[in-house]
Amino acid sequence: MLKPIRVRFAPSPTGPLHIGGVRTALFNYLFAKKNNGTFFLRIEDTDQNRFVAGAEEYILEALNWLGIAPDETVGKNEKFGPYRQSERKELYQQYANQLINSGNAYYAFDTAEALDAHRKQHEEQGKTFIYNHHNREKLDTSLVISKEETERRIAAGEEYVIRFKTPVNETLHLHDIIRGDVKFETNLLDDKVLFKSDGMPTYHLANIVDDHLMETSHVIRGEEWLPSMPLHVLLYRAFGWEAPEFAHLPLILKPIGNGKLSKRDGDKMGFPVFPLEWKTEEGVSSGYREKGFFPEAVVNFLALLGWNDGTEKELFSLEELVQNFDLNRVHKAGAKFDPEKNKWFNHQY
Ligand code: GLU
Repeated sequence: MLKPIRVRFAPSPTGPLHIGGVRTALFNYLFAKKNNGTFFLRIEDTDQNRFVAGAEEYILEALNWLGIAPDETVGKNEKFGPYRQSERKELYQQYANQLINSGNAYYAFDTAEALDAHRKQHEEQGKTFIYNHHNREKLDTSLVISKEETERRIAAGEEYVIRFKTPVNETLHLHDIIRGDVKFETNLLDDKVLFKSDGMPTYHLANIVDDHLMETSHVIRGEEWLPSMPLHVLLYRAFGWEAPEFAHLPLILKPIGNGKLSKRDGDKMGFPVFPLEWKTEEGVSSGYREKGFFPEAVVNFLALLGWNDGTEKELFSLEELVQNFDLNRVHKAGAKFDPEKNKWFNHQY
């Protein structure tokens, strides 16, 4: 039997939702509705330093205004538990321990100063420091010290993190629905931190544990997460879980220069980058809603920034987008605004 389609939008509440994020949510929504699936919202708030009050409410209000509200969200999740990661902390600790016990993760006691020193030493030799098997012997980890010593240091309250033990000498041949076949060398990957000294999981651990437990069938997210795909696939493997399918969406780019479109670019070009107004002590950023745009127009505009139906048609209602949506027709190129021609184009990068 085919797995039911379940997709998620998983923003970190670090500020207002940018149009790039809105488009990710929209493509997840369209994919779910097209395939009689479920679209859910998960709040990834494990990085307490970057938490911004009001951001979660803003995200939900923006999705509601656009007409792409999630089917399941914070508060409506009898089967899967809370959809706010800060309310699932104990669970991640258990899974981190499971990886320690199976030999797929280890304790690391390196101080920030020691890590800086390693980095500097490598730089002096013209190399980049990778926290992995090339360097493990020089590091302060439970892979180097004895089990008793590790236990003693933990009991004494010494700070530690839990890192993933990246397998050595493997080429991973992975598939992305949009990018096609992609290849990664495990020797070039860091042993990423899974669990932090503040008792919180990192994005990587929480994200894959939740995608497994919440039965996510397809991970549809921005392309900036493509470099995390090998780690995520390796984590699924280490747990003995089947990985979901992946689709990494091209970015909405800066009009001039490289990187993602920012609020400042929008200000310069004269268009908002937020769906709704966002007020802070520093000032007000305008939103499409307050500027008088119809939500249907914003949805139509954003859908066409990364996708087309193969015809010249430019006006789609939300229902038409749902009917016609196909991940295989999402562009590989990023969307970029050309200020001279005053229009968007697909930018190969
Ligand atoms: N929390 C991540 C973000 O803010 C989600 C990435 C993902 O969808 O896996 O973009």
